[in-house]
Amino acid sequence: MKKILVLGAGGFIGNHLVARLKNDGHYLIGIDLKTPEFSTSRADQFIQADLRSSHVCDKYITEEIDEVYQLAADMGGAGYLFSGENDFNVMHNSALINLNVSHSAIKAKIKKVFFSSSACIYPQLNQTDPDNPNCKENSAYPADPDSEYGWEKIFSERLYHAASRNYDLNVRIARFHNIYGPRGTWNSGKEKAPAALCRKVAMANQEDTIEIWGDGTQTRSFLYIDDCINGIIALMESDCKEVLNIGSEEMVTINYLAEMISLHANKTISLNHIDGPIGVMGRNSENSLVTKSIGWSPTVSLSAGLLKTYEWIESEVNKLKTSSN
Ligand code: NAD
Repeated sequence: MKKILVLGAGGFIGNHLVARLKNDGHYLIGIDLKTPEFSTSRADQFIQADLRSSHVCDKYITEEIDEVYQLAADMGGAGYLFSGENDFNVMHNSALINLNVSHSAIKAKIKKVFFSSSACIYPQLNQTDPDNPNCKENSAYPADPDSEYGWEKIFSERLYHAASRNYDLNVRIARFHNIYGPRGTWNSGKEKAPAALCRKVAMANQEDTIEIWGDGTQTRSFLYIDDCINGIIALMESDCKEVLNIGSEEMVTINYLAEMISLHANKTISLNHIDGPIGVMGRNSENSLVTKSIGWSPTVSLSAGLLKTYEWIESEVNKLKTSSN
């Protein structure tokens, strides 16, 4: 049994990760500014604290801890990250967290640290063609992410690598590509496309129209949460020190995503395309390195994962409707 610290344990992925590591028989300590929104945490200890404080990091990242999973970040979907309004906070908050966490982990000689980076680090010039984006791990440089969120992530990847080179910190880094699933934020303003579209469709009448940002031809791939958690565990159990994509290669347009959700909802939904923050025109995970290095690949199809996600968001929408009646 390991003693494991999950940072960002109140968030979507952190909460699922705590549950999985708990099921695997470990002792879990979770830290976050907030408790999970849609379920209670399964952590043995859940500490509400601010990781921007170096005192907090020094207090909880100690010699007793075997592994640290660092998922805390100031993040959200396109509406949050690409509007420009949150740029300073996104960079400042997340950089402070990673500066503190890496420093405390070095001091406490933590045996293994996981850091969650993002597909948003990839150069925007490689993602202008919706049919042929290049997100191979080795295409990250020369760096040119399209958001300050991406720049902070690439800085922090380098920070953890420097900690590894200079102080022997044993680090694993994954670049997540659009993780979705039940118990993810869906109406906070930080939701991503799958949750936002599930909400719009769930709230719509049988033949309503929903709004889509941009012309909807922009492409993305989406990875179901269970596959993401399996990828994190596989990476942490491996000796692989290279940064790896953890994403799906099932690339679809946003229009297709909306149509798939409408189909699951048994509704005939029309799409109204409006101006909005859309990010790059194309993005897809490229999994040859991750499959070769750690033997991981996704197992849940987009259709199956979306069905579970839609059903959960629909039940949340219904709860909200009932409580406001
Ligand atoms: P999330 O927003 O649900 O979780 C992040 C958590 O960090 C939140 O609960 C938040 O309260 C916490 N946090 C933020 N600032 C903090 C602070 N100062 N002190 C303590 N806690 C703080 O996001 P998520 O979807 O669970 O993502 C987890 C990680 O994976 C993040 O680092 C994110 O950047 C990365 N990532 C996620 C995706 C995705 O599609 N969800 C894609 C790429 C990368």
